[in-house]
Amino acid sequence: AKNGRGEHICYYQPGMDENARTRRQLATELRHAIERDEFHLVYQPQHAVQSGAVIGYEALLRWVHPKRGLVSPDEFIPIAEETGSIYAIGEWVLREAAREAAQWDPDLKIAVNLSPVQLQQADLVQTITDILVDAGLPPRRLELEITESAIIGDRTRALHLLRQIKALGVGIAMDDFGTGYSSLDTLQAFPFDKIKIDKSFVLKAVSNHQATAIVRAVLALGRSLEIPVLAEGVETEEQLAMLVREGCTEAQGYYYGRPRRLKPEQAPVVTEHG
Ligand code: C2E
Ligand code: CA
Ligand code: CA
Ligand code: CA
Repeated sequence: AKNGRGEHICYYQPGMDENARTRRQLATELRHAIERDEFHLVYQPQHAVQSGAVIGYEALLRWVHPKRGLVSPDEFIPIAEETGSIYAIGEWVLREAAREAAQWDPDLKIAVNLSPVQLQQADLVQTITDILVDAGLPPRRLELEITESAIIGDRTRALHLLRQIKALGVGIAMDDFGTGYSSLDTLQAFPFDKIKIDKSFVLKAVSNHQATAIVRAVLALGRSLEIPVLAEGVETEEQLAMLVREGCTEAQGYYYGRPRRLKPEQAPVVTEHG
């Protein structure tokens, strides 16, 4: 902008400026985070509500920055997506999760988050195939969690890709259902094996009638489309009781367990809970 005398003036916004600088710095550092061994995975159990048994684990990425300490994936994943680092990082996550899960009880599934950007990777299907073979992990034990933003672009291409992934025997879950762009149309048109109700509804459902109504509607939708529904973000017994009342069969959240690091000797086995 210019002032009355034609001089350039800068509307200084400290927050924004600082933010942009941090993002640029993180973007650079993300490019070296794999070789510097700064990533690790934590695993959060997913439970069958009726028996309480663990049915699998979701892998969640953690970045321990040498100076900043733990950086949230909500902060660095979008940066990795913008700069393209997500391809290498996403592949690292898949490889690491598959390698670890191959050591577990063979009844346990491993759920891995796939960025919408990764669906743009030309050789994604081949990469997944190679990783499964290298790890010795049966494809049916892998489930990829994607959000609907993954398919808002070229739907024909996305459908083709998801069908190829499914043809490998790998499962596909729709993550964060109820937020963003989720539409009934997509659920019907795409081959999903699971719907994950977003935690924002589950967390509010006990006190908020609208949230309860949404949870109920998603469960009804799952039943009529014959797609299992998992509720994420279950923190309390009250929330779990509400979910049971509404007929929810699978759940995940702090109530059952926080995401945690697994050492080799802690390889999970199928256990009962509650
Ligand atoms: P998400 O896939 O929806 O993962 C669920 C998030 O909710 C995780 O946050 C998890 O730690 C948190 N959570 C689990 N149970 C509870 C609960 O009972 N209460 C509450 N309040 N939160 C709960 P996290 O690990 O910080 O991950 C945030 C997001 O970052 C993920 O959301 C996902 O979108 C992304 N992300 C994490 N790891 C990866 C990855 O390996 N690849 C990609 N592409 N994205 C990832
Ligand atoms: Ca997820
Ligand atoms: Ca989610
Ligand atoms: Ca989310």
